[in-house]
Amino acid sequence: MGAVASCDLLLTNAHILTMDREFSIHRSGGVAITGDSIVAVGPDALAFEAAATLDCGGRVVMPGLVNAHTHVPMSLLRGLADDLRLDVWLMGYMMPVEREFVTPEFVRLGTRLGCAEMIRSGVTCFADMYYFEEAVAEAAADVGMRGLCGQTVLRFPTPDARSYEEGLTRAREFIQGWTGHPLIVPAPAPHAPYTCTPEILRSCAELAAEFDVPLHIHLSETLLEVQESRERHGMPGVPYVRKHGLFDAKVLAAHCVHVDDGEIRALKNFDAGVAHNPSSNLKLAAGIAPVARMLELGVNVGIGTDGAASNNDLDMFEETRLAALLAKGTQGDPTAVPARDALLMATRLGAAALHMDHLTGSLEPGKRADLMVLDVSRLHNLPAFARDPAAIYARIVYTSKSTDVVDVMCNGRWLMRDRVLLTVDEGELMREAAERAHRIDTFLGSREVSVLQKLVAVGGAVEQESFEVQVKARLASEARVLEALAGRELTIIRASRYRQHDLYWSFDDPDQGRLRYRDDELLDDRGAVTGERSRLTLTGRTREDRFGEVLLFRSRYLAPAAHSARFYREYFRPTAEHVVTKERRRWLVAYRGVEFYVHLDRLIEPATEGYFLEIKSRTWSQRDARDKSAIIAELLALFEATPDETLGDGYAELAARGRVKPS
Ligand SMILES: [Zn+2]
Repeated sequence: MGAVASCDLLLTNAHILTMDREFSIHRSGGVAITGDSIVAVGPDALAFEAAATLDCGGRVVMPGLVNAHTHVPMSLLRGLADDLRLDVWLMGYMMPVEREFVTPEFVRLGTRLGCAEMIRSGVTCFADMYYFEEAVAEAAADVGMRGLCGQTVLRFPTPDARSYEEGLTRAREFIQGWTGHPLIVPAPAPHAPYTCTPEILRSCAELAAEFDVPLHIHLSETLLEVQESRERHGMPGVPYVRKHGLFDAKVLAAHCVHVDDGEIRALKNFDAGVAHNPSSNLKLAAGIAPVARMLELGVNVGIGTDGAASNNDLDMFEETRLAALLAKGTQGDPTAVPARDALLMATRLGAAALHMDHLTGSLEPGKRADLMVLDVSRLHNLPAFARDPAAIYARIVYTSKSTDVVDVMCNGRWLMRDRVLLTVDEGELMREAAERAHRIDTFLGSREVSVLQKLVAVGGAVEQESFEVQVKARLASEARVLEALAGRELTIIRASRYRQHDLYWSFDDPDQGRLRYRDDELLDDRGAVTGERSRLTLTGRTREDRFGEVLLFRSRYLAPAAHSARFYREYFRPTAEHVVTKERRRWLVAYRGVEFYVHLDRLIEPATEGYFLEIKSRTWSQRDARDKSAIIAELLALFEATPDETLGDGYAELAARGRVKPS
């Protein structure tokens, strides 16, 4: 007989779910832990001589859950903007707020908040992707959680890098600094194929291969993304990233909602892990990933919460249940993704998706002591049937709640005992989070006060205040105008033709002015489209002054329209929308040494008889405005036109009398 083996801590009287390859369950067993690792599980463990023991009182002891995809610091942006389309949510709210607020301090606070929430729901390991990832790593290590921490690289400027080259340098320095850490596995995180260039994808893969660390990316999340990939590159997401060398690295791909069978096989062949994010995919209406098929083909699929801004919590119990239910509902098959498989995805298979299953994900000798104690004897989980030992999986997946988690240990260190967090000051955290939310509220509040501020906030709005004298008239025929333009009195400097589609948006408060979204199609002599551009113009409703029949206007703010009309409509939420389509002939003319624009318009929508004439000129002073107004009056006489003031500052009023589209 040899000496009795000893351990630091022995958990006894535990209902152990190992989640090992045999799915061993020990109805009443022990877990022996020494230092950061498990040394024995089950009946073997009970032979150990322990420095300390903990009687688990028959509660379940199982591996800590693995949150396979998240953006932990975004817990501070939870509930900031909801029920919006992805682009409005991302570019209208998340990115402007991130540009303004995301600092290492913000990231540390957000990570502590997110980690506290995850520990409470039995999570011991997570895969993150964010900015200032060293701050995520520091905070997570401080709290005592295990993390695959991905430093984001994007092709445009981010809160932590002015260029992608700087982003790549940051990623390299981060990986160099954290490789070999007992809790943190550093990784490069090229954000997504559509936000990265092929060079970024390749460089990140090379970086990951050089340090033998995983690579974290978003892949094939939306149908639009995949359609655009097909149009631009002639192939969907997986073959595209493969072409650019991504699978030279150990890949963790988040989402993979829109992948076909061939792509799933490729993911399997390259040993890429997939993070399934059911709540986020449902909330942003991205779709439902073909998880049952992925499992069938042997892909390592984990479950993730995604960031708290798109979920809106980090509750892995809820996520695991949803993964099982969605697979059944979409397959029309109640046997799809049974409870045991769902729990496997949340533990060992998730760890394998992160390429970290040698460390965590199951209770086996040699693995780190990452575990939780779960109470399955509360009212909502009773009664319990003992006939089938495997029924415990269903009790956990379909019935247990994150609030049933009693104790959590990571790397041999208790993070929560009796539902009290041991490594985070919860009260302080809540105060700091509330204070941060107040600052963000103030920032967004100041932006919401006016349409102009919102226009500036969404990026790129150029404040171009200008003054303009102008007059409008209705004509039965275009003949006299064309005749006058051909005459000797006028010199034509430039002539062009357009088809213009205008959307006029107005707001409850008329002082906000009117926003016009214009699609300009430049036409050649035969009416073919030779160019296109989109612009946003904010028009104040104030007429500054009048000189006889000529009106002086002020306040126009112009911005190139980088997004679709639909984006701006959902972002600005106007109370009314009017549509105007017209064909415009435009001349820049010189008359008595002064330049004027002459527009001759024919309205297609609302369909209107006859023609509209507009004469306008930029102006800088009251005196200049008066002088130009006098010349405009002469031009009107030359064109034999009578001014029509009811046309106001555009065709919007005319359209308003006709058709109104609800916003
Ligand atoms: Zn994500």
